[in-house]
Amino acid sequence: MTKLERPAAIPVATDVLPRGFAVLQDPTLNKGTAFTERERDALGLRGLLPPHVFSQDEQADRVLKYIRQLPNDLEKHIALNALHDRNEALFFRVICDNIDEIQPLIYTPTVGLACQKYGLIFQRPRGLFIGSNDRGRVAEVLQNWPYPAGLIVVTDGERILGLGDLGANGMGIPVGKLSLYAACAGIHPNLCLPVMLDVGTNNGELLTDPYYVGLRQRRVRGEAYDELVDEFITAARRIFPEVVIQFEDFANHNAFRLLARYRDRIPVFNDDIQGTAAVALAGIFSALRITGGELTAQKILFLGAGEAATGIANLVVSAMAAQGLAEQEALRRCWLTDSRGLVVKGRADLAEHKQRYAHDHAPVGDFLAAIQALKPTAIIGVAAVGGTFTREVLEEMARLNERPIVFALSNPTSKSECTAEEAYRHTGGRALFACGSPFDPVTLGGKTFVPRQGNNSYIFPGVGLGAIASRARKITDEMFMGAAHALAHCVTESDLEQGSLYPALPRIREVSAGIGAKVAQIAYRRGLATGPVPQDIAADVKSRMYDPVYPSCV
Ligand code: NAD
Repeated sequence: MTKLERPAAIPVATDVLPRGFAVLQDPTLNKGTAFTERERDALGLRGLLPPHVFSQDEQADRVLKYIRQLPNDLEKHIALNALHDRNEALFFRVICDNIDEIQPLIYTPTVGLACQKYGLIFQRPRGLFIGSNDRGRVAEVLQNWPYPAGLIVVTDGERILGLGDLGANGMGIPVGKLSLYAACAGIHPNLCLPVMLDVGTNNGELLTDPYYVGLRQRRVRGEAYDELVDEFITAARRIFPEVVIQFEDFANHNAFRLLARYRDRIPVFNDDIQGTAAVALAGIFSALRITGGELTAQKILFLGAGEAATGIANLVVSAMAAQGLAEQEALRRCWLTDSRGLVVKGRADLAEHKQRYAHDHAPVGDFLAAIQALKPTAIIGVAAVGGTFTREVLEEMARLNERPIVFALSNPTSKSECTAEEAYRHTGGRALFACGSPFDPVTLGGKTFVPRQGNNSYIFPGVGLGAIASRARKITDEMFMGAAHALAHCVTESDLEQGSLYPALPRIREVSAGIGAKVAQIAYRRGLATGPVPQDIAADVKSRMYDPVYPSCV
């Protein structure tokens, strides 16, 4: 049996388990007050626990009640982390059964604040910290990890959400993301390894923060940086031969380069670029079910020209091309704006990733003016500048389009281009809206709209699941397009009627199973999978999903 085919349940035979107090101290074994009378006797726990035996459901109720009475989201985040450190199965049970409520607490938007305060709220380490001072011994560091990793999420902390360089404090992101892999797609937590490549930080505040946990040096750049990344990737693939690696929250200048360097060699992807692209494309597919329009007829204007914007634009172009549009024509249907205005041909010093979208056009400095000049059918905000979809912008989109597509995807909430309420109010309730941060339903003119997050968590867990299940050797754009179709397929007519462009989050495990099956199918079809094709790919993918119920210990 290979590492990735281990049974999902943690081994629990009493003869291999620690006994007594040590069981309660191990979050992968601990059930707390849910140990049965027989288990208490068998494991030497009698007297170490209060006498009443609770069920996991009763424990989960208590956790929820406790979390709900905490004064703010950061406190809730901390309490959930503490639960994770104490009782892993209960932590995942609480997330799986209450994903709508808990996801924003363990991931965006709360994780942004948690990263900013990481040093202050630090309790127990989770994941691996690999520093630039570990050059030459990265394999040794990786070997300290006690489990056989099947999936690594790695960041260097330089562009955490829309918050910039948070250095080693960015570790909260891979940790949160891997919790979502386990909860949303049932990837066993033991297979999930969060990694912080700590090359320093250029954030002056952190360098003088007495509680900063990272290396107190400015960022290592150039050859030394590339060599560290390469040593890490090579060692990770040697020690965990089928491991899938997800790049997370790298700054532009490294994100595109690293993806290009490794994507044809090993199973890697960058969620900020490719996961975002798939979730946005799925949202566009849903919006078009409402308008009845064709993808190839859309004109999309992005506020932002970074990883998310170019990632989405690239996948949209591929999807338009797949529907028969010539690539040159598809490219001209996507326009980017950055902090200097519309990205146009001839602009000096345009970064390489923007050049594909630098079309012939006079310079335009202002987003509203760009809308007036280009008359887009959709605007997608991914610039991390809050409030940029102003009333005027939204009114202009509503003037140009019967059903304007408006995606305000920037995170966290303070960076959102507009609120859901603004999007609906300033378009007379006609906007087809998706957001990056959670917003409550909006009632306008007697109709209630339920905006849903175009959250990558609809996509990356399923992609990871499919890649692990098929032991994919590469993760391709075709897989992300397949993931977008599989996600859009899950949106029901009643979702669309209330303005929801994504399925309800509580259906996430079903969604991830569908995406996982699609990704695995593509891997098998394209000869990118390792091993024989299972008779029923969807059933095979589903059978690998971890369910956080307590195993019986006796
Ligand atoms: P990035 O740093 O790669 O890109 C940001 C881009 O915005 C840059 O091109 C920059 O030039 C541009 N920009 C900055 N100020 C601007 C201004 N005033 N007007 C126009 N453009 C401006 O970051 P990214 O990875 O592309 O992420 C951007 C935002 O999108 C973040 O807030 C991130 O959290 C969010 N995001 C959301 C989702 C999601 O909800 N699904 C997914 C990915 C990223």
